[in-house]
Amino acid sequence: MTSPRFSTRAIHSGYRPDATGAVMPPIVLSSTFVQPAPGEPGPYEYARSGNPTREALEGCLAALEGARHALAFGSGCAALTCVFQTLRPGDHVIAGRDCYGGTFRLLDRVFGPMGVQTSWVDLRDLGAVERAINARTRIIWAESPTNPTLKVVDLAALAALAHAHGVLFGVDNTFATPALQRPLELGADVVVHSTTKYLNGHSDVIGGAVVLDDDELAQRLRFLRNATGGVPSPFDCFLVLRGLKTLELRMQRHGSSALAIARALEAHPGLTRVHHPGLASHADHALAATQMRGQTGMIAIEVAGGEPAARALAGALQYFALAESLGGVESLIEHPASMTHASMPAELRAEIGVTGALLRLSVGLEDPDDLLADLHQGLASVGLGG
Ligand code: PLP
Repeated sequence: MTSPRFSTRAIHSGYRPDATGAVMPPIVLSSTFVQPAPGEPGPYEYARSGNPTREALEGCLAALEGARHALAFGSGCAALTCVFQTLRPGDHVIAGRDCYGGTFRLLDRVFGPMGVQTSWVDLRDLGAVERAINARTRIIWAESPTNPTLKVVDLAALAALAHAHGVLFGVDNTFATPALQRPLELGADVVVHSTTKYLNGHSDVIGGAVVLDDDELAQRLRFLRNATGGVPSPFDCFLVLRGLKTLELRMQRHGSSALAIARALEAHPGLTRVHHPGLASHADHALAATQMRGQTGMIAIEVAGGEPAARALAGALQYFALAESLGGVESLIEHPASMTHASMPAELRAEIGVTGALLRLSVGLEDPDDLLADLHQGLASVGLGG
């Protein structure tokens, strides 16, 4: 038989019916496990170190990214933290300046004072990345598509550049998911997810994951996770695993709806710009088409009336709830400058295009015509009708 394809892996990887015959993985809530003799644990001893429900999720995550190892965490930030905890004082990171505000905060305000220095670089400029590499550079860290302006960076080129300098290349794949993009196949060493988003897909879990091939690094990360304790609950693992089973279908609908809405909004006079990598007008459209297998459900829009109009529009919609996060069945809208990216300094926000006029949309699984009608009525209600 040929090796199983994505949706087959999503449904069958990580768990086989156990002795009870349960078709779906049981949620094992026990915090500790009986040991046959002192100091001789069975397969599990204490749930921070290992748990069968978490292992079922990890087996599925690894299969979906095409990796040997996956580690689940209590949040995307806990997953990022564990990767950066492999660094020592004096080490240097090159991170994409287009990134989630919390990633900026973590490197700048938590790891910075501990002696890890970060250079914030436009990763689309490979020359700038190469110039930023120094003898202490240990990690190049990318997001693609980026949060919130949906820029796309060349993952294969960055992996080659990192490896030419003996540097680890890590990718936050939250906005794409393995259904659309598999960074390890493009040469990345480590992939991180906020499973809170598309992977769980129903806005009812905070979770994260690190996925990788390297045995030694996986062992180090497992040690760090156990020592620092950022593990997810078994119940949350079950929910994320349940979400993964429909990931491919959901991403198809998120992506097709987002592209249809982005195309329709491009002509709207109330907006000065619409960002979506599937639009021919997007600067990284060609790269996105080769690097990704479909469309993300995220859109960013710039509102003609500036910040006051953007804030008014964010609160004028019926189906797009004004809330942080993304990737759930329901549509969301947010104002990055005052919400997800408020922890980023204003100058850096300005450099990456996070102005007061920018809004980020997570297009959910509602009927796309209803969502578009909602955006049209919202624009009209704040005086920006077409
Ligand atoms: N990475 C990206 C791209 C995100 O958008 C987020 C959260 O919004 C995170 C990481 C952090 O994930 P969490 O909120 O699960 O800690």
